[in-house]
Amino acid sequence: MTLYCPDCKRLYDEAEKCPVCGKRRGREPQDEDICFLQSVGAIWVEMLSDALKDNEIPFQKVSAHGAAMAMFTGLYTETFDFYVPYSHYGEARELADAFFAANQDEENPEDEGEEEMEEEEESGETEEE
Ligand SMILES: [Zn+2]
Repeated sequence: MTLYCPDCKRLYDEAEKCPVCGKRRGREPQDEDICFLQSVGAIWVEMLSDALKDNEIPFQKVSAHGAAMAMFTGLYTETFDFYVPYSHYGEARELADAFFAANQDEENPEDEGEEEMEEEEESGETEEE
């Protein structure tokens, strides 16, 4: 069974404990619970957002430790934490997994060039009766 930690907004298996706070005081997730999906590097944020939108999955994204990391690494590597409602978690999880599996080798998504698929929907305006 899956449990939900309302403090950390994480889902975890009943046999485990919350990966963030280590407590075992989770409860059963409710459809409207906001669940942590994953952290996403800045370059992916927009694409993942689009993918979620395309699938009509509501989500929130929250900037995570951007400034601190930038100071530490000297690079501006801001990341965002994505959250989705539990009702859409399974769907979002699959989407995110597929998304990153497909893109994990590509560090420069910018020149990937969106292949514009020309969907010519022939909405026949035939006025034959
Ligand atoms: Zn927790």
